[in-house]
Amino acid sequence: MSFGSPYVTLPDFAYHRPKSLDEALALLKEHGEEAKVMGGGVGLIAFMKERLMSPAHVIDVKEVPELRQVRHVPGKGLSIGAAVSIKELLEGGTLRGYAVLEEALARVADPMIRSRATLAGNLCEAIPWVDSPPALIALGASVEIAGTGGTREVPVSGFIRGPVDIDLNPGEIVTGIMLPDPKGTLSAFEKFTAGSEFSLASVAVALAGGGRKRSVAMVYGAVSSTPVRCAEAEQAVADGLTPANVRRAADMASEKVECVDDVLASAAYRRHLVKVITTRVLRRMMSA
Ligand SMILES: Cc1cc2nc3c(=O)[nH]c(=O)nc-3n(C[C@H](O)[C@H](O)[C@H](O)COP(=O)(O)OP(=O)(O)OC[C@H]3O[C@@H](n4cnc5c(N)ncnc54)[C@H](O)[C@@H]3O)c2cc1C
Repeated sequence: MSFGSPYVTLPDFAYHRPKSLDEALALLKEHGEEAKVMGGGVGLIAFMKERLMSPAHVIDVKEVPELRQVRHVPGKGLSIGAAVSIKELLEGGTLRGYAVLEEALARVADPMIRSRATLAGNLCEAIPWVDSPPALIALGASVEIAGTGGTREVPVSGFIRGPVDIDLNPGEIVTGIMLPDPKGTLSAFEKFTAGSEFSLASVAVALAGGGRKRSVAMVYGAVSSTPVRCAEAEQAVADGLTPANVRRAADMASEKVECVDDVLASAAYRRHLVKVITTRVLRRMMSA
């Protein structure tokens, strides 16, 4: 995506390719705010070409073995290493049980970009139009972070603070994303795009449990500066997916979800899209 800048070259930087997490952390400690971690590089290199970022040190973590793992953690869920590509995640049923994330990732850009880009990079990029954050929030996922001072884990819902603004300190790196055990969660993703590029509006839905214990998460992406949940739409389908509840949820979402004007679409158009994609995703889930 071009932001209209005249640059075609990259600014000068030193390229590092650590072979272990400890080496990556040591480089981050040494170079502090002058360093940027690189996953697939799809977003970072574009930002650097546009001079929106000019790190003096780029730390490419694609070959760090600790970040290349996908593993089940008993009693917790699925931990996805930060250097695993979207293409790798979509292969071999890795995301079975996490339909909302699988559907979101399958619709990211094109096969070439999916073979380079990582889930962690998609999340850390934190531009409003990317597709994984609403899906991760709907699933209750958290971000695994390491720094020289130790490790911490934060919910994805609190990790994105604003456009290109995440809860990550200099010297820290995202090591992975933790998806809680799906436990029969029914989930789905829908987006509207005006071509092959970013979403103009997206929605991620996750329904867990039944009866009084049913929990609903409906998270909208690309409509505002950060993903937003819509409690009123969630309430509308809390007692089940019926045609009347689906209509009510779509009306509620269109009325209550805060939409903004930006370079891709107007707020009014987004409100219309919110109604359309809410209806589509819930109808699909109804007949699942
Ligand atoms: C033509 C085009 C179309 C696109 N269409 C879509 C689309 O339809 N849907 C969509 O969701 N996205 C889309 N994108 C965006 C693209 O998917 C993202 O740029 C990509 O997912 C970023 O992942 P990456 O691994 O390449 O991250 P990188 O480019 O490597 O990094 C992105 C940012 O995250 C930081 N970062 C990366 N990994 C880590 C880590 N482990 N720890 C800390 N910080 C880290 C980097 O420092 C950088 O700031 C599109 C991009 C292009 C160019």
